[in-house]
Amino acid sequence: MKKILIFLFAILIIAIHSPTLSSVTVKINIGLTNIKPFDSKIIFKYFESPYEYGKWVGKNLKIYFSIIKLKNIFAKEESLTNLELLSEKKDSSELMNFSYEELRGLSDGLNINIRSLGTILEHFTDCFLKGECTTTLSTSPGTKKGETYLTQNFDGEFSFPDIFTILIYHYFTWRCWVVKIGDNFGYAFWGIPLLWEIPFLNEKGLGMGGNGIHLSENRPVDEGDGISKYWLERHAMRTCKNVVEVATLIDNSERASGRNNRWPHMWDNSVYVLCDNLGGIVMIEQMHDNFIAVFGNDTNITHTREGILWHTNHHQWLDPNLTGSVFPFEYKSSQKRGERALELLNSSDNYGKITIDTCMNIMKDHQGGTNSSKKDSSDICRHPDKIDHGFTMFSWIIKPKDMKVYWTHGCPCRHRYVEYDFYSIFKFNNCSLSKNIEKHDFSILTKNNIRLYLSEILKKNYFFPCDILYLFQNFL
Ligand SMILES: [Zn+2]
Repeated sequence: MKKILIFLFAILIIAIHSPTLSSVTVKINIGLTNIKPFDSKIIFKYFESPYEYGKWVGKNLKIYFSIIKLKNIFAKEESLTNLELLSEKKDSSELMNFSYEELRGLSDGLNINIRSLGTILEHFTDCFLKGECTTTLSTSPGTKKGETYLTQNFDGEFSFPDIFTILIYHYFTWRCWVVKIGDNFGYAFWGIPLLWEIPFLNEKGLGMGGNGIHLSENRPVDEGDGISKYWLERHAMRTCKNVVEVATLIDNSERASGRNNRWPHMWDNSVYVLCDNLGGIVMIEQMHDNFIAVFGNDTNITHTREGILWHTNHHQWLDPNLTGSVFPFEYKSSQKRGERALELLNSSDNYGKITIDTCMNIMKDHQGGTNSSKKDSSDICRHPDKIDHGFTMFSWIIKPKDMKVYWTHGCPCRHRYVEYDFYSIFKFNNCSLSKNIEKHDFSILTKNNIRLYLSEILKKNYFFPCDILYLFQNFL
């Protein structure tokens, strides 16, 4: 029964996701090959308030909830739901208030009362996998020309019925969303708006990734109530300009961690992986009581050269005896991927000369793992084998200085990275970009393209006043 419902869910997501929600996309040809600034795969939406965002999601995604409701038809209502807990704390912080308003809008948009919605959402994660990823960060002096890069392979399990989840994730990467709410920074993400966002870049050039952490089954875990990582990372994208601001935010927050993986706590123990357009990089290992932010120049912690960081699925700087993470020897795939990522970043061929091509080659790598001549589940680009079902579902690279993101629709050894220019997307939607990238040349957008852009907007019945104002001010 469960398998059939997950199958139906996967098919419906793919079927429904297409026409209605894509009506606001704008396509424009700027005459450069392989660069798609207004690709139909990128959907920009502006909302005046978090309540409006939640309501819009509720109205557009009713079908998702019908399926989840069907799946959870026998689930008993929890005595105190996430939403009720939130409403109790709603005035305690800007973040909690924001999250409550989003969910209040969602409740109104769906026409489902708060208690039922809370129960449905707590079972929402049953339909998805937890990410088990490999990430790297590199910046000056490790890179060529002082560039900064974030790379991420997003991994899952390759087994029935997770095959349907893999299809869903493949589908997620066919498009991404850019959402701006009120005065908050606009940010881009894959996945389902509000409910399952995988954020990766904001309008200030802050790039994001992350790593799931495997917990030991035998040792105690650093466990405690607090704000879910899911809400904290979205809050960081809406409010932070650089990696130092995020590290301060996370350090000062009451963080939730432990074995609870019900929505919105599905990523609570995960590692933050961040880069910014000033060249900053940081990886943050965090639990309820334990916290460490490791920056690119913390060589006394990383014991390697400056400007390179890497991570897989165990705590490598916090003490696993305190956090409850597995030790590397307890999860060989995580250990081998981490060792190989460091070896590649630090090799004499790469260190000091890292480029976008180096990053792509690292994420495609098959020369580590358990067999250096075969593709296996301990490679950076993972393929299932007898030891493990781990599988790289898709991959992305962020180059924050010029706000370019490259991503694949499947594992990087079989699918090419396509470049997307988010500078143009944020700029055309009147987001306030950071000053050091204002020097971009916008003259490539000829009047023909502007006409095309306008006609697309009108044809799609999508009128966004800021866009029109911006075009008049700058080009006409
Ligand atoms: Zn591969």
